[in-house]
Amino acid sequence: MYEIGYRCMDCNVQVMGTKPEFKCMKCGGSLEVDYDYEKMKSAFVPMQFRYMPPTHMKYYFALPLARPHNAITMGEGGTPLISLGGNVLAKLEGVNPTGAFKDRGSAVEISKAVELGRKEVVCASTGNMGASIAAYAAKAGVKAVIFTPEFAEPVKLKQMKYYGAKIIRGGKTYTEAMLKSIEYAKNSGAYLTGDYPYRLEGQKTVAYEIADQLNFDIPDNIIIPVGNGTLFYATFKAFNEMVHLGIVRKVPRLIAVQAAGCAPIVSAFRKKAHKITPVKTPKTIASAINCDAPVDGAGVLKALYSTKGEAVAVSDQESVRAKLELAHKGVYAEVSSAAAYAGYLKLRPGGKSVIILTGIGFKDKY
Ligand SMILES: [Zn+2]
Repeated sequence: MYEIGYRCMDCNVQVMGTKPEFKCMKCGGSLEVDYDYEKMKSAFVPMQFRYMPPTHMKYYFALPLARPHNAITMGEGGTPLISLGGNVLAKLEGVNPTGAFKDRGSAVEISKAVELGRKEVVCASTGNMGASIAAYAAKAGVKAVIFTPEFAEPVKLKQMKYYGAKIIRGGKTYTEAMLKSIEYAKNSGAYLTGDYPYRLEGQKTVAYEIADQLNFDIPDNIIIPVGNGTLFYATFKAFNEMVHLGIVRKVPRLIAVQAAGCAPIVSAFRKKAHKITPVKTPKTIASAINCDAPVDGAGVLKALYSTKGEAVAVSDQESVRAKLELAHKGVYAEVSSAAAYAGYLKLRPGGKSVIILTGIGFKDKY
């Protein structure tokens, strides 16, 4: 509605226009959608906004959809924000239609594919995104092809298969699968989905929702498990937008949690670097955050430095223990999500913390 172009997370170059763009032409970095924020602000009606219950599509004004009323949606978002005791809250993203936070991004990506009249979509996924794209493609009557690395969880492959997606297995790392998906899109004309600008926009609504559910009294910390970093950067972008719209006062401190066996962002953060160095041989059971070369790594680092955030790595044992501890509080999260809780337990940051639990516990075998 209000999008005007794109901006590169790495070199800041601007591209004008609203046709789909995937990567920066100048440096190959990740792009984010740029809006006419003044127009967005003048159309925003705070009182009307406050009385609407939180759902993904409530925040349509911040999404790059030409026809939001025709969006492919399955009621994603509006997920519970519950207390874990003390000053700690958990955002239960596993309650989304396919059991993971990815549905927010898929609703935007598949709506866009339909807007553009595309009949086939392709993506690379460690499992959750593929299952989500497969579901939304099924809902829209569009064919889905999913490339998965060898380590993808069998239960997620089964889910994709049920939705009717074509699964192509191969590649030791996420990056290998991703390169194959790009190649496939080029050769077949299928619409490329994944951790690209439109997904990032869809993922922003989790941050809008957290602020909304806390009556815009924002928490001190938001703790997020990080694979490609799209959700992390989306959270940063959404809070900056909310500051601009005048609905929150500031951007909270953002804390990134990675698996010790695949922690390129934590390593870069410790060196105060602005670019990540890919991990050659990633090794972790937290498959949903096993991303050897995080696509939005530069964006995550920017968000970390800007919010005086923190990045921490947790072992697989710590994540499995965190999954059990959460379950003893009545919350069943997949091990890659429980990693965020393990990160919280390790850092114990002061003030009010919100932990984003990205996927439901049925999503893995641990
Ligand atoms: Zn660039």
